[in-house]
Amino acid sequence: MRPPMRPPMRPPILAANWKMHHGPTAARAFIAELLARHTPRADRTIVLFPPALSLHAAAEARADRTDIRLGVQNIHWESKGAFTGETSAGMARDAGAELALVGHSERRHVFGETDEETSRKCTAAHAAGLVPMLCVGERLGEREAGETEAVVLRQLRAGLTSLEAGARRSVMIAYEPVWAIGTGKTATPDDAAAVHAVIRQELQVLAPEGGSEVPILYGGSVNPGNAAALLAAPEVGGLLVGGASLEVAGWLAIAST
Ligand code: PEP
Repeated sequence: MRPPMRPPMRPPILAANWKMHHGPTAARAFIAELLARHTPRADRTIVLFPPALSLHAAAEARADRTDIRLGVQNIHWESKGAFTGETSAGMARDAGAELALVGHSERRHVFGETDEETSRKCTAAHAAGLVPMLCVGERLGEREAGETEAVVLRQLRAGLTSLEAGARRSVMIAYEPVWAIGTGKTATPDDAAAVHAVIRQELQVLAPEGGSEVPILYGGSVNPGNAAALLAAPEVGGLLVGGASLEVAGWLAIAST
């Protein structure tokens, strides 16, 4: 069966979440190679999420190639203070970030981040001029119990609740089923499309003006072999890639999809 045609909308967003990989030296080397092998393309947006410590080096290495956008993997909701080890949205922006991941499943399920915290982080990101990329997704048990829609909607509503309606149009959403992250198990394009449709419908309620334009990315064991089919699924406006984004060749195979 031919995949449905992508409507003539905004270019897809290909985002790399490096997690706790690539310190400043490795980030510089990665970006130097990326720039040498990838010429700017108007038909896609590339975003890299290096570790916070590598953001400044990544921004320097990117130099004037602003077609490569940068984001921070996590922020604290306060702008400054006695929060040892944390990074504020303003600091991330100062170091070169334009986006902030919020509510990644590892933050939720390894570090215990709550829905309320994702809400505060989305608000802090927006206030500092970063685009929050709110991650939502169900665990395997929740999927098996038929709770996917309820979980995703709860996380979506909670994450955006403190943002004014006007600001909700300036976010990005990443649907990342937890059972697919780093496991090699990928949602089928149909699975992804079904959940993306639910997210889109809710975004139109939460953000009556602009909710239909908010990009919804898919993430979870994306690789060069499945990227094209996932990207062609209805309402999939981009891909958020972890493990397969760590090597330039593999990442470029996905980013050039
Ligand atoms: C992620 O970390 O957001 C992710 C999707 O990881 P992976 O591609 O490794 O499943």
